[in-house]
Amino acid sequence: MHSILSDRINAMEESATIAMAKKARELKGQGIDIISLSLGEPDFKTPLHIQQAAKDAIDEGKYFSYSPVAGYQDLREAIAKKLREENSIKEAKAENIVVSTGAKHAIANIFMCIVNEGDEVVIFSPYWVSYSEIIKLAGGVPVLIDGNLENNFKATAGQLKAAITDKTKAVIYSSPCNPSGSVFSKEELEAIADVVKEKDDLVVVADEIYELINFTGQHASIASFPGMFERTITVNGFSKGYAMTGWRVGYICAPVSLAKACEKIQSQFTSGGTGIAQRAALAGISGDQSSSKEMAKAYLKRRDLVLGLLKEIPGIKTHVPEGAFYFFPDVSAFFGKSTGQHTINNADDFCLYILNEAHVSLVTGAAFGAPNCIRLSYAASEEELKEALKRIKDALAKIN
Ligand code: PMP
Ligand code: GLU
Repeated sequence: MHSILSDRINAMEESATIAMAKKARELKGQGIDIISLSLGEPDFKTPLHIQQAAKDAIDEGKYFSYSPVAGYQDLREAIAKKLREENSIKEAKAENIVVSTGAKHAIANIFMCIVNEGDEVVIFSPYWVSYSEIIKLAGGVPVLIDGNLENNFKATAGQLKAAITDKTKAVIYSSPCNPSGSVFSKEELEAIADVVKEKDDLVVVADEIYELINFTGQHASIASFPGMFERTITVNGFSKGYAMTGWRVGYICAPVSLAKACEKIQSQFTSGGTGIAQRAALAGISGDQSSSKEMAKAYLKRRDLVLGLLKEIPGIKTHVPEGAFYFFPDVSAFFGKSTGQHTINNADDFCLYILNEAHVSLVTGAAFGAPNCIRLSYAASEEELKEALKRIKDALAKIN
């Protein structure tokens, strides 16, 4: 039966984040007390006023039919208003917005619309697992530029310049970054924009899905810089900042021609997103923002908690993440070491050892382009985090 599968799907990796979450769920199902720090998923419930908007939408009975492919007009207008007022993207209008079934879907639309066979896309690495696989699926070639622990995992505009060739079609980064939690400053993004503007027809995909979980207090949107609106596709969504992962609402803001192209592909693949979820998203974006701010405060407290606990573990090297809810420590000090029974040769082995020995699930950095690192999501309760870090410390103490 294997032969019926296309080369396209055979060449694709499964999402490592999703795979690890699946494994953790299976072990939990067998009654094993797993603490899951693998999936990047808020542990908070969707704020009540957003839940209520969905209930009201059901009671109104108006949102059960196919929704407009690019999203309800009032939601698109509310998103455009937010982008103008909070992100200084002055040109943003409803016609630039396409609402999709999560930001992941929005990113898939984009690359299917802009990449021809053999086109290169430069990815700021470490990077979110799905970028490279979506680009490859679209026929593109991912070109990684690597940040490292010393520069807070932020590759530079200089590296971007060196990576650009005649075939480069697009550049993608996330800020705040999944997996590193790093945040590009306005100045760093200005330098990146200057490089992008040197080449005709080069666009930036700016993934801002962690915008609301940023401890620096400063979020810069590259689309707001002079001359950048026409060259930028801003990606955002409701999963992280509004704790709405399962509702599946994300969006892009792009020049009209690109927005129309994304609408076209969406019209063939999925149609408009779920109506009820869009009504909930509208309440999120236009309602009281205090629950998002409270969640961000809680993440900051947890970041500091985990930072303190990680520092107590010999061999773990970490920078201080400025946003999102991930640590991305370098664990290469453990490579080549052994428990007597198990040898840890790489980050995959490290994660497997921690899963089996400490019953804590993490994700290998190899999936994010950084094979010396592992990703730990601290979107979990303080009790779980303390217990998880204690278990990790104890398990690592058995290695030498
Ligand atoms: N971009 C990044 C950087 C992410 O971490 C995620 C998390 N899933 C997404 C996009 C996609 O988010 P969603 O599809 O849940 O909106
Ligand atoms: N973005 C989250 C993560 O990185 C959710 C899982 C996924 O969509 O990959 O864990």
